[in-house]
Amino acid sequence: MFELLKPDPQPKARLGRLTPAHGVMDPPVFMPVGTQGSVKALDPRELLEMGTQIILGNTYHLNIRPGMEIIRAAGGLHKFINWNLPILTDSGGFQVFSLAKIRKIKPHGVEFRSHLDGSLLFLGPKEAMGIQRELGSDIAMVFDECPPHTATPKEIHGAVERTIRWAAECREQPRATGQLVFGIAQGGVNVALRERCAKELVEMAFDGYAIGGVSVGEPEPEMMRAVELAEPFLPTDKPRYAMGLGTPAQLVEMVARGVDMFDCVLPTRVARNGTAFTRNGTVSIKGGMFKSDFRPIEEDCDCFACKHFTRAYLRHLLNVGEILGLRMVSVHNSHIYIKLMTEIRSHIAAGTFADFRREFIANYRPSKKIMLARAAVKER
Ligand SMILES: [Zn+2]
Repeated sequence: MFELLKPDPQPKARLGRLTPAHGVMDPPVFMPVGTQGSVKALDPRELLEMGTQIILGNTYHLNIRPGMEIIRAAGGLHKFINWNLPILTDSGGFQVFSLAKIRKIKPHGVEFRSHLDGSLLFLGPKEAMGIQRELGSDIAMVFDECPPHTATPKEIHGAVERTIRWAAECREQPRATGQLVFGIAQGGVNVALRERCAKELVEMAFDGYAIGGVSVGEPEPEMMRAVELAEPFLPTDKPRYAMGLGTPAQLVEMVARGVDMFDCVLPTRVARNGTAFTRNGTVSIKGGMFKSDFRPIEEDCDCFACKHFTRAYLRHLLNVGEILGLRMVSVHNSHIYIKLMTEIRSHIAAGTFADFRREFIANYRPSKKIMLARAAVKER
């Protein structure tokens, strides 16, 4: 299922190939997020045009709306949303612990109130895997407990114990045909817990491993540290996935630390506020300085928005609340993320990734506002 094509020990960047049920993926890969069965503001044609290889769906949200009865009747998630390439589904663990209003942790899962209508629901390893089996995703994630970065050592310890136990339960559940299942290593920035969790999961022989508990509001050095702590314990012949990350610069840094797969709501989320990603950082297209700027968002970008529209026009659309404006910035931002991964892959193949990384990081100015938006991310 996963073939490591080119490992590069210094830095640890890897080139691989993953072949889930619905197609081929070439990690390092970015996965646009379609929480509710749609990548916000983008249609499948646009996603395919920019070279998307896989998108995300979400167990928690899709199970609440439209509900599994509808998706079952449609013939699974791929058919329901008309997406024929791979889909990865998150297990809902993250949402249960971040969105649900009132929750009670039980031995085999979590009882909680729906964030929408307050109805009493239960999600555990058995339920999360059952829903993902019916969704028919290519890659299913185990049901884990993702504590916030403010959690006490005792809370993180409890979360790791449950995550290990629940992963073993998930491992035993029936899967959809050809469905891969990834384990999720938790443990915060506690060295011993990261090691213990990663080792226990590797014992269970999952098809891939995610590093969880990142992008939960922690400062960037802590995020990097969490990945560095887990990575050495993950097998080199299986894909590694850092959940919920990040900015373009963070993606480059994570690839250098041996991570293969990423997802993040940032490109489409900030687009809806009129913020565009460029190779040098972010710009607010709504800014007055773009009033009569007839250049594209980024001069050498070959996305549909940059090929057809100017900053002045997009600024106008955003300021009068025309949907086309936020759609086009979403197209550009998602394109930037997808193309960045293509570029990273070609540099790894050519053996020039270390130089590329140095230059990219030197030119990229991180924005405080974007970092805060990332910290506030509660959906995946
Ligand atoms: Zn563009």
